Amino acid sequence: MARTKYVAGNWKMNMDKAGAVALAKGLVENLKGLTAKYMIAPPFVYLDAVYQEIKDSNIILGAQDMAATENGAHTGAVSAVMLKDIGVKTVILGHSERRYEFYENDTLINKKVHEALKNDLDVVLCIGELSSHRIVGVTERICEIQIRSGLEGVTEEQLAKISIAYEPVWAIGTGKTATPEEAQEVHASVRSVIARLYSPKAADAITILYGGSMNAGNAEALLAQPDIDGGLIGGASLKADTFTPICQFASK
Ligand code: PEP
Repeated sequence: MARTKYVAGNWKMNMDKAGAVALAKGLVENLKGLTAKYMIAPPFVYLDAVYQEIKDSNIILGAQDMAATENGAHTGAVSAVMLKDIGVKTVILGHSERRYEFYENDTLINKKVHEALKNDLDVVLCIGELSSHRIVGVTERICEIQIRSGLEGVTEEQLAKISIAYEPVWAIGTGKTATPEEAQEVHASVRSVIARLYSPKAADAITILYGGSMNAGNAEALLAQPDIDGGLIGGASLKADTFTPICQFASK
């Protein structure tokens, strides 16, 4: 199956409102006519302002995280219902910064996955090994555990709303990228885990993104790998000039 390439920008805790709006405007202009799938995930407080810029474009609005629970007494949290209400279509869950900085575990991430699906949001589920895992050769095992736990209770029908982002933690924000061959090897194993958990058809259909210092210089080679269906981009998504070329490669 020919899978549509998907490029997602995770802006993390960066920018001010004027910068967020200007970047969104620039991307709407630059990505006009491109044919891959594009998503940007600004900080929560700028979601609405960014939505006003991109709502009639080919760019989807994403959130960087979400509460595991419904509306109610959860100080500081943002619910799926609230996100939907302001135009969010997809949510990034299980990012390594949530796992390691905010102590999110697989059980909580799985709860968030179900809460997102219940509210008809698409999900980008992030997985990936630490460098200590890679050194001792357990990368694929770690990814399999994170996939099995993150997707526990998710049906094959629901899987259509989920993309997986393989993000080696040692490559995030470090300038160290997995080589295309290293990334491809893990992507192929992720796809085989999905085939075992669901079906070969589901494995063939699922979008698997690579994340970890992807930029205009390395994107083309990474995106050329048979099991790399796009990218989750941090640093290079913060400027139209650095994000656009990746989007263009994906559109080829
Ligand atoms: C990320 O945080 O998902 C990421 C891939 O960041 P960077 O591109 O900066 O490594």
